[in-house]
Amino acid sequence: MPLSDIQTRIAAAEAQAGRAPGSVTLIAVSKVQPLERVRAVLDEGQRVFGENKVQEAQGKWPDFRRDYPGIALHLIGPLQSNKARPAMEIADAIHTLDRSKLVTTLARLAQEMGRCPDLFVQVNTGEEPQKAGVLPAEADALIAMARKADLPVVGLMCIPPADADPAPHFAMLRDIAARNGLSGLSMGMSSDFEAAIAAGATHVRVGSAIFGERVAAP
Ligand SMILES: *Cc1c(COP(=O)(O)O)cnc(C)c1O
Repeated sequence: MPLSDIQTRIAAAEAQAGRAPGSVTLIAVSKVQPLERVRAVLDEGQRVFGENKVQEAQGKWPDFRRDYPGIALHLIGPLQSNKARPAMEIADAIHTLDRSKLVTTLARLAQEMGRCPDLFVQVNTGEEPQKAGVLPAEADALIAMARKADLPVVGLMCIPPADADPAPHFAMLRDIAARNGLSGLSMGMSSDFEAAIAAGATHVRVGSAIFGERVAAP
């Protein structure tokens, strides 16, 4: 689907929900996509992108940043502590802060580096054992810990269970954010970004609807 169609659908969902035009940031998820497809979307003017893996991001984004000013890169995949430094070097935002050990690591690196990307705390709203994210009951404590460590927590992120109605998960994320005074909500993907916008998403992460099906597994 052309980028402009996705932009039109986002604008319609914003209007439908009574939200201000432009209040939702589209993150184009470019993981595993061929470089020429990513370049085509850059040529259409898109500047905010999402990647799952630090190494993959390191392989493509330094060159794109040289060619296209104003790129913002969001890391949206699970983050291992031993990849935290390169992640902080390459990313403008990290959506997957999900455990106390990572809070400690990021806080130490932020001190050393004198900067830190915007952070979203990932919440495992479906309490799925195979999925990353802090459990909903433990989210408040993790957010408090990250704030105490002076980390720039700007919002929350979730990936609802694949076969479930996402709406209750979006609502849960919104409630946890509200009671913690957080304004950012990273939720909604190709199949459900309009429902996420209706529920208050500020960042939608859309991959296959823009780029087509991924050729390799993410
Ligand atoms: C791959 C991925 C997306 C994009 O998924 P699509 O269904 O292709 O839009 C969004 N968020 C995360 C965390 C992902 O890993």
